[in-house]
Amino acid sequence: MTHVVASSMDELPLRPELRGRTPYGAPQLQVKHRLNTNENPHPLPAELLADLGAALGHAALELNRYPDRDALDLRRDLAAYLTRTSGETVQPAQVWAANGSNEVLQQILQAFGGAGRTALGFTPSYSMHPIIAAGTGTAWVDGHRRDDFTIDAAQAAAQVREVRPDVVFVTSPNNPTGTAVALETIATVYDATTGVVVVDEAYTEFARTGTRSALTLLPGRPRLLVSRTMSKAFGMAGLRLGYLAADPAVVDALQLVRLPYHLSSLTQAAARTALAHTDALLATVDAVKAQRDRIVAALPGLGLTSVPSDANFVLFGHFADAPGVWKALLEHDVLVRDVGLPGWLRVTAGTPEETDAFLTALGEVVREQGAS
Ligand SMILES: *Cc1c(COP(=O)(O)O)cnc(C)c1O
Repeated sequence: MTHVVASSMDELPLRPELRGRTPYGAPQLQVKHRLNTNENPHPLPAELLADLGAALGHAALELNRYPDRDALDLRRDLAAYLTRTSGETVQPAQVWAANGSNEVLQQILQAFGGAGRTALGFTPSYSMHPIIAAGTGTAWVDGHRRDDFTIDAAQAAAQVREVRPDVVFVTSPNNPTGTAVALETIATVYDATTGVVVVDEAYTEFARTGTRSALTLLPGRPRLLVSRTMSKAFGMAGLRLGYLAADPAVVDALQLVRLPYHLSSLTQAAARTALAHTDALLATVDAVKAQRDRIVAALPGLGLTSVPSDANFVLFGHFADAPGVWKALLEHDVLVRDVGLPGWLRVTAGTPEETDAFLTALGEVVREQGAS
């Protein structure tokens, strides 16, 4: 008996706008120093690991039941965290949570984007924004940046008025460039659109002193959405927990598109336990920022430069052949990210040992390439 298989996606009745696309694909390679996906390399605190065991065991007793569909306890804890760290009172009804901020972003586009609608984001930025747009049938428009990767508020507002997008993405601090966006710029973009404005603050805990969160812009702006994640500063990328703060009406809208029981009871229990250890988890943030600043400070000595970073990574260059440098670093057991920006590469800041390995390898690669 022969099995008939499709030898490529093109033979399937795939949606036309997905044809020819490639999936999100940061390489997951077995390399000694993996500095390509902005994870926090510090081990989780021992007290948290002990509490997680107990909390998950307790939650497991109820696994025959569906989880709390509305994740009320978790949202209360997240609201308390945001209130404590931003100085802005955030109510539980303003908070929504899902499996990673990527799922939150997908729900936003399901509710506010979709067929016949348009999203705009200022490129280069997070590569998942246009991918999630495509997945939800939302048209995508690249927003403009200056040559130094900053956003010109007046130009951004003019472009938004012209394109009239239903959803505008502002990533702050921006990935892959690293720099936070001025709140005045976000407010200007907000005033220029009748759509929703999503501020993706995945890296906000790493911002330089004095940087204010877009949470402080929420009062009086019902179309402003601020998304966060536990994947980066909290060091819990494997947990898959992202969340959002916005007007309670936005949370009502997202409930129209979320799958019932989307957030497992194990995830909710683990996230609440982690939040109970917030101070211990975020204790590594200053250490990571110190390594970031160390990388930035060392680059000029190698004849290189970087883009100002408010994140746990550095965009560095400028190289005649960035893919060649990426490959040479890999041969030195250091995996960084080629984000497809000519001349630039992105490296995650982690432990002092990782910084040592990266700077040593980079020094050797620069010498080799210079000598060749
Ligand atoms: C890493 C990252 C996220 C995190 O996504 P999760 O699904 O929460 O892991 C979101 N936005 C940006 C810009 C990121 O770089």
